[in-house]
Amino acid sequence: MKVLKFGGSSVANPERIKGITNILKDYYSNGEKFTVVFSAFGGVTDSLIEMSTGAAAGDENYSVLFDSFCKRHNDAVKELLQNELHDDVLAQLADNHIVLKNLLYGIFLVREASPRTMDYVLSFGERNSCFIIAHTLRQNGINARFLDARKIIKTNRKFGSAKVDFDLTYNNIREYYNENPEIQIVTGFVASTKGGLTTTLGRGGSDYTASILAAGLNAKHIEIWTDVDGVLTADPRIVKKAFPIKTMTYGEAMEMSHFGAKVIYPPTLQPALLKKIPLYIKNTFKPSLTGTFISDQTDSNGIPVRGISSINHVALLTLQGSGLFGVTGIAGRLFNCLAQAEINVILITQGSSEHSISFAVQPQLSENARKRVEKEFKLELSTEQIEPVKVEGDLSVVAIIGENMRYQPGIASRLFQALGKNGINCIAIAQGSSELNVSVVVSREDESKSLNALHEAFFLSKTKELHLFMVGVGLIGGTLIDQIKKQAPFLKENRSLEIKITGLANSKKMVFNDDGIDLDNWKQELQDAVLKTEIPVFVKKMKEMNLSNTIFIDNTADKNISDFYESILDSSISISTPNKIATSSSYLQYKRLKNISDKRGVQFLYETNVGAGLPVISTMKDLINSGDRIIKIEGVLSGSLSYIFNSFKKGTRFSDIVRNAKDLGFTEPDPRIDLNGIDVRRKLLILAREAGYPIESEDVKIENILPESCQAAESVDQFFIEIEKSNDVFEKLRANAEKDSKVLRFIAKLENGETSIVLQAVDSDHPFYGLSGSDNMIIFTTERYKERPLVITGPGAGAEVTAAGVFAELITIGNYLS
Ligand code: ADP
Ligand code: ASP
Ligand code: MG
Repeated sequence: MKVLKFGGSSVANPERIKGITNILKDYYSNGEKFTVVFSAFGGVTDSLIEMSTGAAAGDENYSVLFDSFCKRHNDAVKELLQNELHDDVLAQLADNHIVLKNLLYGIFLVREASPRTMDYVLSFGERNSCFIIAHTLRQNGINARFLDARKIIKTNRKFGSAKVDFDLTYNNIREYYNENPEIQIVTGFVASTKGGLTTTLGRGGSDYTASILAAGLNAKHIEIWTDVDGVLTADPRIVKKAFPIKTMTYGEAMEMSHFGAKVIYPPTLQPALLKKIPLYIKNTFKPSLTGTFISDQTDSNGIPVRGISSINHVALLTLQGSGLFGVTGIAGRLFNCLAQAEINVILITQGSSEHSISFAVQPQLSENARKRVEKEFKLELSTEQIEPVKVEGDLSVVAIIGENMRYQPGIASRLFQALGKNGINCIAIAQGSSELNVSVVVSREDESKSLNALHEAFFLSKTKELHLFMVGVGLIGGTLIDQIKKQAPFLKENRSLEIKITGLANSKKMVFNDDGIDLDNWKQELQDAVLKTEIPVFVKKMKEMNLSNTIFIDNTADKNISDFYESILDSSISISTPNKIATSSSYLQYKRLKNISDKRGVQFLYETNVGAGLPVISTMKDLINSGDRIIKIEGVLSGSLSYIFNSFKKGTRFSDIVRNAKDLGFTEPDPRIDLNGIDVRRKLLILAREAGYPIESEDVKIENILPESCQAAESVDQFFIEIEKSNDVFEKLRANAEKDSKVLRFIAKLENGETSIVLQAVDSDHPFYGLSGSDNMIIFTTERYKERPLVITGPGAGAEVTAAGVFAELITIGNYLS
């Protein structure tokens, strides 16, 4: 004998019932012995609850829901049955509907729906669905018969989630099945008291009905048919990458379901486990898939964590005080008083100092729990041996589950690392002594992020997702998106890294998408976006989306954006940016951002602040971290100035060269920003600070190369007029240098903590002599690189290389987050 159970979504409409009929016809023709449990049609139980609570509240509209309830079932009959059966079933349903109508009217009149009445109302869902399906199967040649489970499953009077009287029930089952050899089509979820009052087994209880039947019948196995491919590694509604678990033990399945995996109703496993009846969880819509097999066999393939689950809403209560230390019987009294109040404790944790005991309960029970505990410990409270019970609400419990965890060290550390790197605070931790689960209490808003982070940490074979929130899609941002798009397949295939741009803003509009913005269509999406760009809103939304592995990318040069870094880092979100404003503002501010990122365990990376994509800052960090000491840094740090002085040769005019550089886009719109050394100063400041010097911009001595008239010019056009007049000044400098076989270079220098920027004539021995185009060059003289300094050179400006620098940082952050 096999017991099959089909859930609400599997029978949500006549089309699906036809599909199930085909599955069952196969079983039948194979000569299998089986019985089938059905739930109410998908959504019907919810709607029955809604209509009865509506009626109890005096809302006449309950009748609208009632009418659609009747219509939905009558329509199904019309679609599924013909001739005589059709008429008989409709007539029987009509009788049911009259009773339900009267019942609801009664509720409406007395304005009350007690749990006992509710159970009776809810029973109409399964009774209708099974009645229709049983007859549909008959019409299709299966010798099926409708069985109202109230006849055989007997419970106590705990309406809403009644406790089964197993001895009586198993006897009834055996007797009934002995006397009725047809294929029984059984109502899930409903049962009755010995006296015949209708009860229910709790929401989702049809699974339980199936396992009670299976235990009563000593069935070979149970098949739970649902709308997913089995028990998945995590709730697929929250973790998109969850995948089916092939095999699991009863213990693991029990933990998963107790910790919120809705796919199996928690009490279901108990009767099956006692009789060692295995279960298959299968997808009604893909019957050929094997699904999940649950039995008492542990597979020894060593996978430590089988699945991840969560309870969405709990409250945590803490009993603490000096009076707890070393006193025996405290825990006994505590949990005894909770048990007496029928308060179920979800999780318990006690610090080894014995100073406090924390426990989690359903939030609606927390107030009662607090009162009970304070009553129990009244004496200790009055003598201040313990403190008033602390209650924290709005929490979730996230658990990793697996039999093999007990054989492997390092699981907990991986768990805490994954949470820590995503800035998730663990409020309490508990590990069952069976080591079958490790549970962590987190804030409710971190639930989804925690599940995703843990899924990535423990199911490494699957790809890791990075969620990017990008502001600025100009030259650098646009290029970066192109590069990501092009490289995405490679990263997915070879690095198991999936990059999704989940938030994008230009100066006008912004868009968000959890699943990633379509990179073939991002321009259009931005154009069509309804949201106007407001940076505070962008940042708020990014935090609210609370995705795992979030990275903020600022592709602008805008202070309004860098002002938000602090709050972004503080929310444990890493940042990568070519924007120099934050790192070159006051030293205090620079240090503060670095400390916040350290404290939060996130990355704040800005390699492209100096030398675009050249590995300048990272090289320096490596040198320092490996024990080297920076003695001197010299650099040509501006692509614009490099271009200008590299092109300033005999026979050229300085003003023409500046104009040409501007026309080619090598300078700022106002070339004075480059020529007055401010941009170079920012870069030098960053380098000096990275080398450990607390330098401010006033500390940097800049040699002013621009004559006063050029500085004072009111517009860029006026500036060009003035610089033309000053060509002689520059020509003289150049000619003097040339006379000594030297060339002019604009050099930033850090030596012994002193910083300066000078226009210097260098001879052919100097590495800067041979620079060409807009190349940058940075020379590090260190303890180790003293005789022959370390030189980094290459293009120090341009969208391609800068975007590539940011891209590389994303990968670095991604590796760190794993
Ligand atoms: P049925 O109506 O068949 O009883 P349920 O809605 O009760 O189905 O349970 C199936 C649903 O459980 C799935 O659609 C899925 O959204 C949810 N679910 C939550 N956690 C898990 C998990 N770990 N594995 C599979 N499904 C899960
Ligand atoms: N129909 C009931 C519910 O929705 C029982 C079940 O589906 O298992 O809770
Ligand atoms: Mg269910």
